[in-house]
Order: sequence, then structure tokens, then C-alpha cells
Amino acid sequence: MGYSEASSDAPAAEMDVRRVGLCHETEKNGGQEGDGSAISAGNGDRKAMRLNAVAYYADFFISFALIGMLAAMSLFDAVLATVAQWTVWALAGFMLWTLLEYFVHRVLYHNVPYFVEMHDAHHAEPNAFIGAPPVIGVVLILLLFYAPIVPFNEVAASGFTAGMLAGYMAYMLLHHAAHYWNVRPGTWLYMARRHHALHHYHHEEGNYGIVTSLWDHVFGTNLERRRRGTRDAT
Ligand SMILES: [Zn+2]
Ligand SMILES: [Zn+2]
Repeated sequence: MGYSEASSDAPAAEMDVRRVGLCHETEKNGGQEGDGSAISAGNGDRKAMRLNAVAYYADFFISFALIGMLAAMSLFDAVLATVAQWTVWALAGFMLWTLLEYFVHRVLYHNVPYFVEMHDAHHAEPNAFIGAPPVIGVVLILLLFYAPIVPFNEVAASGFTAGMLAGYMAYMLLHHAAHYWNVRPGTWLYMARRHHALHHYHHEEGNYGIVTSLWDHVFGTNLERRRRGTRDAT
């Protein structure tokens, strides 16, 4: 959703994508083996959150289970109108996730010192298992979205939270795919991977969205558009 087709910058972008792949080759010892602990200190004073495989994948499966639980609680024996309502709330939750993901990445991870240090570890070693500690993201979604809404409307709280969790899952999956999977050129996934490759390797800052490039277009941080704009001006 929302990724623009390759322009005449294609050769440069191909190189960007390959560089993501190359990092996989050269840096694969950067953390996949782990050191037996879920989280250990990074190099020097870097607050790198180096995760073992269980911790790295935990939130994905916890989110999946929670979405199933929320759907079962709200939709078991529900009438069609309730299912429709839940689905609309889930779509709203998913969209809000993409906006939140954009701002967390752009503002917190790239501009607030404590988080910048942590996120720099990922930029330094894009293919190491580095990420936020498990469970925190899921708990935050439950506290910030499910808990305040549920006293007023159980179906809305359940649907909205499930949508947010689905967005979180999409984010984890696509970010993983961007760094690990070889995808065929011309596919949507290839464009998503290329979008994130430019975030890592372009000399300008931008392309903060992972699930969609929509907010990069809305807020003027889409690197392809800027490059085209620069060329048009000259
Ligand atoms: Zn980043
Ligand atoms: Zn990345």
C-alpha cells in the first residue's frame, strides 16, 4: 500500500537493496547466535538491545494470540452488525498504528537522545537481532488503547486493539523481510524493502514508514519524491 513505482533512479535503488542483502552476509554474526541472554549490553556505551531468537520473535506470536483472543471474546456468537463494527474499529486501529509507527521512528528513534542511541545500534548492524525488549510494545498497546476504551465500548476496544496489534505484526514482519528476505523485483514487497533500504543507506534522512510509505508522502519525508524534485529543479 502506497509504495511508489521505481523511477529512473532504479539502478541506484537496486544497489541500495543489494546493500541490505550484503549486510546480511557480512554482519550475520552480529547477533543471531546471541549470547544466551535475552538482552545484553551493546558495544561500548551503546544501549543496544540485542535479542536472542525467542525474544526477537516473541511479540509477533503474542500479538497473534491476543488478536485471536480479542476476536473470540467479542465475536463469538455475535450478530453481523457487531462483526462489522469490530472490523471497522480494527481497520481504524491498523491505520493509527501506521501513523504511530511513523512518528515513533521519526521523532523518538531519530531525535530523542536515549532512543537514538538504541536505534543507532540497528542502523550500525541492520542484520543483527536488535530491537525493543519483548512484551513492552504489546503491554503499551493494551494500556494506552484497550484499557481506556473498554469501559465505554467493549467491541470498539477489542476491534481497535486487534487492529493496532495487526499493525505491529505487519511492522515486525515487513521490517524483518526488508533485512532478510530476497524478494522478486517488481513486487509490492520489493518496493517496501527498497523503501526501507533507502532509509538505511540514503545520505538524507527519510522513509520512516515501514508498513506503508503513506505518511512519508503526507509529511514530505519520502526520499524518492525529494530526489525527483531535486532533479526536476535542476
Ligand atoms: Zn531508523
Ligand atoms: Zn531497518
